[in-house]
Amino acid sequence: MSTLLSHPKTIDETLSNLYLLPQLQQYSMGGAVIGNDGQTYISPDSDRKYAHIQEAQAMKQTVNNYLSSKVGKEFVRYTKEKGKHFTPIVGIGTKDLGENTVAALITNDLEAILVSNYDGKGIEQRTKEMAQNYGLLDTQMMLDYVITHELAHAAGYKSEAETEVFVKDFYTQLAQNSSGKEQEKYLVLASIAGLREEQAYQSESN
Ligand SMILES: [Zn+2]
Repeated sequence: MSTLLSHPKTIDETLSNLYLLPQLQQYSMGGAVIGNDGQTYISPDSDRKYAHIQEAQAMKQTVNNYLSSKVGKEFVRYTKEKGKHFTPIVGIGTKDLGENTVAALITNDLEAILVSNYDGKGIEQRTKEMAQNYGLLDTQMMLDYVITHELAHAAGYKSEAETEVFVKDFYTQLAQNSSGKEQEKYLVLASIAGLREEQAYQSESN
């Protein structure tokens, strides 16, 4: 489907390596990941295996839908056009990441897994709440935005501010190449990215 999703030989090893990354050590709770080999990997500390598997499947579907949508295809094209390369994503799933996260890219720079934050609430519900915070009625728009943001991290953008700049420029270009309601929609997302860029500068300079 996409060169973005690679299929390593040693996915279970990769996943256990990724789960040992220092940035994840602060989270004690579990999750589940569906590898690109089609297998489901449940982290040993999962305290609700069934819910984690359900949510991992929902997240995988969300990402697949994104990659076959216009926005997803355009984003992959845009990123390559800018000379950026995606860190291969070897699995998609979910992990309990505390309160204030919707999704995250867990990466060691060689490989990555893309997870939603479960912690009792699925990607759909979290995205809906995020959309409400920005006064958006269209949850799908917000969902596209969330995946675009995480894939911008996979394209090598580390800080939140530089990630939002890339996302903002992408939606601005999409808006320039469209018209009417569609254009309006992309402009709204570009302005949300701009807002989040400002917030990131403020919190990153603290
Ligand atoms: Zn981010």
